[in-house]
Amino acid sequence: MEQKSQLATRALFDAKTPRYSSYPSVSHFSPEVNSGLKRQWLSSIPANSSISIYLHVPFCRKLCWFCAYRTQSSQSDGPIRSYVEALKREISLVLQSLPPGTTVSRLHFGGGTPTILPADVFADLCATLTSAIPLASDYEFAVEVDPNDVDLDRVAALQAAGVNSVSMGIQDFDPEVQAAIGRTLSFDRVSAVVEDLRAHHIGQLTFDVLYGLPHQTGPRLTDTLQMLLSLSPDRFSVCNYSHVPALARRQSMIPSEALPPPPDRLRLFETAERLLQWDGYQPIGMDHFSRPDDRLAIANRLGRLRRDFRGYSDDPNDVLIGLGASAVSRFPQGYCQNEISTSGYEQAIAGGHHATTRGHVFKNDDRLRGEMIERLLCDLHLSGTSLARDLDMPVAVLDLYLDQIATGLSEMLQRDEHGIAIKPEARPFARMIASRLDRYALPAI
Ligand code: SF4
Repeated sequence: MEQKSQLATRALFDAKTPRYSSYPSVSHFSPEVNSGLKRQWLSSIPANSSISIYLHVPFCRKLCWFCAYRTQSSQSDGPIRSYVEALKREISLVLQSLPPGTTVSRLHFGGGTPTILPADVFADLCATLTSAIPLASDYEFAVEVDPNDVDLDRVAALQAAGVNSVSMGIQDFDPEVQAAIGRTLSFDRVSAVVEDLRAHHIGQLTFDVLYGLPHQTGPRLTDTLQMLLSLSPDRFSVCNYSHVPALARRQSMIPSEALPPPPDRLRLFETAERLLQWDGYQPIGMDHFSRPDDRLAIANRLGRLRRDFRGYSDDPNDVLIGLGASAVSRFPQGYCQNEISTSGYEQAIAGGHHATTRGHVFKNDDRLRGEMIERLLCDLHLSGTSLARDLDMPVAVLDLYLDQIATGLSEMLQRDEHGIAIKPEARPFARMIASRLDRYALPAI
């Protein structure tokens, strides 16, 4: 109990730590990586490899105040159709450098709102993509679906394209919370969309919920989760709302005095954790839960969980190609990021160039720290012996890193001869703990 109150009063939720969907974080990318280097990295993928693709759709019909993603509002389909033409040109540019026999085993459409694409545009884009780079036999094709912006034609288009996994941003069903965050979504709407998806054999379902929202309370979050549990999803992500109006201007519409203080936020997470575990969901990483037979839970048990721009995954591939404005690609050599603005991206692609404007070339130290951060956020523990085997380094050197991470964090970490483990009650603070390994942020080891 004493430890919990220490955690709550340390105001750790306010610590501004990166999400560690990449290491280093995107804010540390530089112009050292350009289109020429991206072409080289694409060409160096071994023939007959399986890769992953993330395709970004930066449009929404309405911009929600809480959302810190870089998205733009579009009431007409014109800008969306023109953006999709640029995506199709980027696919053919990528194809020019890809070795023969490349297939996609993990395909993810995110945004923004991918289901803003009209059904015929979605079908055309998927056909262009999969005829250029075929889906592997054991593929997963995931799409982020906005229940407010999907109809039967679009659901049929998802099925026809082979989509087999869907995630939905729910946040909270309470009307006062929804009014404060500028997003309206009813349980009836979500339930109807889930029924349509299942009727079209799109079964794997993830609900995204935020805690720490204005006016959110334990009973309100419990009601939301119980409604969602009645739909039997495969996974939940239960993430902390990060209030950064200086960076995400829309968030200035949210009254900061209505935000729960850090001790209440910790209790909200614990409420969700208890409820989901009672219902048989297993904790995954720092903020996900899944059914024991779900791919994430299996990857977690096998120590093969991964973390990247899509959140947690069981992605086995070394290469992730990002398509679209601001999308990030990951290669064994480093990261490339496309031009952030939609107009700049479309212009670069129209000129026949990859739209790469910045990125990062890995140094050995980045690989070591990136691997330790990813393992810590996925497994919530680090073993000196396993790291020594995987990274081909002396255990004594790795033990020094582990000692330094653990220094002064005894309320959150267990340190013994095997390594370090994040205590269950400190799970929501895993990113803050991992930031001790971040050479690009202070304080670093
Ligand atoms: S929460 Fe979803 S629908 Fe709302 S602005 Fe963000 S990406 Fe768009």
